[in-house]
Amino acid sequence: MIRVGVVGATGRVGREVCRAVAADPDLALVAAVSRSAAGASLADAIGLEGEAGDVVLAARLEEIRDAGMHVLVDFTAPAYAPDHVAWAIDNDVHVVVGTTGFVVDDAWREASVGVIVAPNFAIGAVLLMRFAEQAARHLPAAEVIELHHDRKLDAPSGTALLTAGRIAAARRGTPEVTADDEGRAGARGADVEGVRVHAVRLPGLVAHEEVIFGGQGQTLTIRHDSTDRTSFVPGVVLAIKAAPTRPGLTVGLDAILDVDVSTG
Ligand code: NAP
Repeated sequence: MIRVGVVGATGRVGREVCRAVAADPDLALVAAVSRSAAGASLADAIGLEGEAGDVVLAARLEEIRDAGMHVLVDFTAPAYAPDHVAWAIDNDVHVVVGTTGFVVDDAWREASVGVIVAPNFAIGAVLLMRFAEQAARHLPAAEVIELHHDRKLDAPSGTALLTAGRIAAARRGTPEVTADDEGRAGARGADVEGVRVHAVRLPGLVAHEEVIFGGQGQTLTIRHDSTDRTSFVPGVVLAIKAAPTRPGLTVGLDAILDVDVSTG
């Protein structure tokens, strides 16, 4: 049985992670942190039933140091996630991070515990990145459009940055762009390793990404839509189970998935 703690437990994604951990027979939800709901039980705060519903939310990680956690899951905010990882490493707790928008610390590579950081835990998004890498070898001209709900703190999204980086690495040479003059600042999006990335923020969206490849007389569009925050949950559960077996830093869910799409 893997004993799990969640920081950001009453957030939009964190609460879904709590539900999934509580429902998994191989996992036990033993601790949770939420500053806004500290002192409440998970039953009262997010309607969790069963034993996990009795877990009382703590205000700070320090308060759950003695909970006997094997794995800590972080879905909080970019300003805090690195400190939470450092805390987990110092306290000998494996850590799975879904928070996006911060720079990964190289020192985490040397950690004796598992540190899994994934900007997108949805399997479809992982496949999109793999397919984009394949397409970029044949159609090097590509732009990324990411679309998210209007409360997302970081732009462009971590997934878009990773996608652009992988396209840049996979294509042979950088395509010549002849129309990059901007009549208005930002019209052509951000330049990420030579790939243009556009960020859309609107209410009603969850998490979406589209990559458009252009070639002579043709375009190819690859798109992934997370229409519900539970799309991230199976990937998070997989990472929780993998973390104790992967000391050091793992970036990206595909490193722990058996995604056999490598031939192109
Ligand atoms: P959210 O609803 O704002 O939830 C974040 C939670 O973190 C809040 O409930 C907040 O609760 C808590 N929090 C913030 N600062 C904290 C701190 N210093 N210590 C403890 N708790 C803290 O946001 P969300 O939509 O769940 O997203 C959270 C993060 O996950 C974002 O970075 C988002 O981009 C990312 N995300 C990643 C994936 C993926 O697949 N990797 C998917 C979706 C979202 P309190 O204020 O009550 O503490």
